[in-house]
Amino acid sequence: MKLTIGHLYPDLLNLYGDRGNIQCLMSRCRWRGIEAQTIPFERDDKIDFEKLDIVLLGGGSDREQLLVCEKLREIQPDFKKYVEDNGVVIAICGGYQLIGKYYKLEDATITGLNLVDLYTEQEPGRLIGNIVMESPLFSMPVVGFENHGGRTRLGKGVKPLGRVLYGNGNDGRSGYEGIVYKNVIGTYLHGPLLPKNPQIADWLIQKALEKRYGKPIELSPLKDQEEREANQYIYHRFVKKDSE
Ligand code: GLN
Repeated sequence: MKLTIGHLYPDLLNLYGDRGNIQCLMSRCRWRGIEAQTIPFERDDKIDFEKLDIVLLGGGSDREQLLVCEKLREIQPDFKKYVEDNGVVIAICGGYQLIGKYYKLEDATITGLNLVDLYTEQEPGRLIGNIVMESPLFSMPVVGFENHGGRTRLGKGVKPLGRVLYGNGNDGRSGYEGIVYKNVIGTYLHGPLLPKNPQIADWLIQKALEKRYGKPIELSPLKDQEEREANQYIYHRFVKKDSE
């Protein structure tokens, strides 16, 4: 079995080591004997979405988001088709904002890819810090780090990725974080996300293999002792204090 990961615009969208998410996906495939390759795309490259099994859109500053938004208009129809055909996407922070309808800044509005019914508006003050949430998709808590000026609001019927146990999440008010739509996960969590949350990495790999090979796939379990310990450490540090 083989998977191809498309990394969109890593020269611009790669805050807080989001590239580590690619390394995590590649390693978790390799450890199971699944072949994996990553294709990094720059703004002038043509993207053939049919060849891709997982697409990663990382985080970026407002300036970098403005620089890629022109390009997004061009790839939108193919990207939309990929998503509607159950293509797997992991979109983080700036990339998460860009899969929505728009990201409104104080003096400009960035048109998004409109892949998921959500929009983002900048408000005074940044939402920064560690974050922990629980997601109905996973038994393990989801942990990470957020830093965003945008507040994201979901359209009716769009499911959040999880409920915030510590931190801010989508808008600092709703109590929810991220989205899940078909095989797309959008989230504000950097960190990088996947080494800290191997359960999400495996969800993406499993969905991608099932789509590519057209049958249910069960991934062989990995030991993940350090990953679980690190995840639990963060959970206990911020949510369930050891003395409780
Ligand atoms: N520029 C966006 C914001 O500040 C996203 C930042 C990020 O990707 N960390 O809201």
